[in-house]
Amino acid sequence: MNLRVGIGYDAHAFADDRPLYLGGVRIDHPRGLAGHSDADVLIHAVIDALLGAAGLGNIGRLFPDTGPEFKNIRSLELLKKVSDLLVARDARIVNIDTVVVCEAPRIGPYEERMKEALCGALAGLPAGSISIKGKTTEGMGFEGRGEGISAQAVALLQLAEGVSPAE
Ligand code: MG
Repeated sequence: MNLRVGIGYDAHAFADDRPLYLGGVRIDHPRGLAGHSDADVLIHAVIDALLGAAGLGNIGRLFPDTGPEFKNIRSLELLKKVSDLLVARDARIVNIDTVVVCEAPRIGPYEERMKEALCGALAGLPAGSISIKGKTTEGMGFEGRGEGISAQAVALLQLAEGVSPAE
């Protein structure tokens, strides 16, 4: 079993006049997140977990925030590109587990739609292979003060036999 684990973390600050996207889903919330892309903090953490497991670097290296082609891009599109890289390397996603940390919005009501969006971008990964959990911090830290949202993800990949990570 050629298994590889990866971890991803991201955080973005709230910003006015931006739509909020989390897990590829437009969320009904008064403020969005600041960022070069759509600032989907959950997808960014998932991308880094997948790239880390595959030895393919990190999101900043693949999709630099100086690249005009990535300005306001939907992060689901970036996730699809990462999925294509994994498919090309015969890397199969075993499972992805995630935590989204914020005081608001509540994540639970959007969980199923987020899973559907992520699985759609990940070559039809079964919904049972991805987990999304919302957490608050009881008022502590930047998430607790409502200044932004952070997300963490771990991903387990099965690489083809005899294939080593890219670097
Ligand atoms: Mg980010």
